[in-house]
Amino acid sequence: MAQALSDISVPAQASKDAVKRARRRRPTYVAQSVSYVLDAAILWLYHLAGTTDGWIGVGYGAAGVGWTGLMLAASELHFTDRFRDHYLTVPQSFGSIAIQLTAIYLAPEVGFYFVSVLFIVLGFGALRMSAKQTGAVWTFAAVGLTVLFVCTDRPIAMPMGTPAERQLALLCFVTALGRCAFTGLYGSSLREMLYKRGNQLKEAHARIEELAQVDELTGVLNRRYVMRALNEEMLRAQRSGSPCSVAIVDLDFFKRINDRHGHPVGDEVLRSFAICVAANIRAVDKLGRYGGEEFLLVLPGAPQDEAVQVVDRIRRIVAEMNWDALGEGVAVTMSAGVAQVRRDKAPDEILSRADLALYRAKNAGRNRVCS
Ligand code: GH3
Ligand code: MG
Ligand code: MG
Repeated sequence: MAQALSDISVPAQASKDAVKRARRRRPTYVAQSVSYVLDAAILWLYHLAGTTDGWIGVGYGAAGVGWTGLMLAASELHFTDRFRDHYLTVPQSFGSIAIQLTAIYLAPEVGFYFVSVLFIVLGFGALRMSAKQTGAVWTFAAVGLTVLFVCTDRPIAMPMGTPAERQLALLCFVTALGRCAFTGLYGSSLREMLYKRGNQLKEAHARIEELAQVDELTGVLNRRYVMRALNEEMLRAQRSGSPCSVAIVDLDFFKRINDRHGHPVGDEVLRSFAICVAANIRAVDKLGRYGGEEFLLVLPGAPQDEAVQVVDRIRRIVAEMNWDALGEGVAVTMSAGVAQVRRDKAPDEILSRADLALYRAKNAGRNRVCS
């Protein structure tokens, strides 16, 4: 059933992601279309100033908006999703550069205008392209310009003959500068987003690590991690010769609590018990859930006698605690078996000795600590 559910939800999630990505791409295409419309308007002003034909502005605007519209359509239809760069920056840049080169050829009298647009195209494209791709796009632009400048005798010009033409040239540069600045800002917003994503990933990773270590019910270490902690502390103790003790702690007659008060109360007892023990040990001590109502306590630096004292103090606290809040008549006691790490012995050996001590504590009447 779970398998079947996950089979259904994976494509659903994928299509949700695709829609989100298309939505993120949209403003880029809209910004480019607006940029082309702005250029077309300025070229139209050149027409009004008598510098170019009217169709230059119209044709240029139509080509630019048409090309960007085509890209937008491909994006909205999710055609671009199959590519690693789903913005299709390289083909898009090639197309835009081809439009500029053609415009320079067809309207050399305002050729400088399209040259300045080349800067914007390359600057914007480089934000999403690799060095290799940028190199390829730049080469295309450079070769195109070389052909136009060297192999043709088109009179590529920046018209400055009349005051209107001077003002339009100024307008061209001012708007081009503005678009360059916009590109820069867009780049820094991308960088900021990446930085934020990086931080979110780091946080998620830390959270996963934390979740992998703790027992869901009680919040103390889970069995795997407390065993790992035991291994590490044992090795450290054996290496350094410093003492280290281990206690297996088991709640007394816990089954009765479940039977009389219900499983949820049992769970609450486990949680409260874990909090109580955790609050009464040192920061270096390691507490983990070893089994259902059994806990493992690793006490680095503590010889057996000291460990027995510590665990017995906890036992007293637990026994004297008022558990009534969890259910009327709830009383909780614990028994524990303590053992000290010996040289050249494995974790299994110390655990079985602690277990044996616990068994004796249970047999001796419970609510006690044996070693
Ligand atoms: P003893 O003093 O000999 O240890 O008796 P006991 O009843 O504590 O021991 P026993 O092993 O017979 O029963 C342990 C019970 O712990 C049985 C099981 O239902 C309960 N238990 C184990 N895990 C959980 C849990 O996560 N939540 C709750 N509520 N109960 C649990
Ligand atoms: Mg028990
Ligand atoms: Mg038990």
